[in-house]
Amino acid sequence: MTGLQWLEISKIAKEFSCLEDEFDEVYQFPVLDEDKLLDGLEETMCVGGNIVDYHSCEFFPERWFDVVFVLRTDNTLLYDRLVSRGERGRYPCPNCPKVYSYASSRFNHTKYECGKEPSFRCPVDQCFYKAKRKTSMKGHLKNIHSLTYDMAAIKPEYEFVDIST
Ligand SMILES: [Zn+2]
Ligand SMILES: [Zn+2]
Repeated sequence: MTGLQWLEISKIAKEFSCLEDEFDEVYQFPVLDEDKLLDGLEETMCVGGNIVDYHSCEFFPERWFDVVFVLRTDNTLLYDRLVSRGERGRYPCPNCPKVYSYASSRFNHTKYECGKEPSFRCPVDQCFYKAKRKTSMKGHLKNIHSLTYDMAAIKPEYEFVDIST
């Protein structure tokens, strides 16, 4: 109707097999591999003309969007839907005051961001930019250096080992 393509991210995540076998330990919720999803969407999003439908926006690059709409509804409807899907709402980070609505968002936060040093280093000589997330590095390469890298080749300097358990 609008001439725009509707991208339902929760479905696309399944198509790209972005849901990891790994489950959030506490809440038993499948974890979304955000970097893999973003890599898979990059081409489509750069062409433009898309509507991206998802419950959160924190990990999408800003450069993809011209406008963001927040759809609101009665909390009761939303709550029932979350309960029916086995997602129950508040997922606080154990290490900082951040609270997430989804277990997968909290998992990614504790894995890549919270109290972590940035582990992605810009591969360009004489550039000292570092990022905590692969997607930020991708944006940096494009915007600052006008480079399009094969992101699969960009690896963190070191893998984080969780010693909290
Ligand atoms: Zn945190
Ligand atoms: Zn750089």
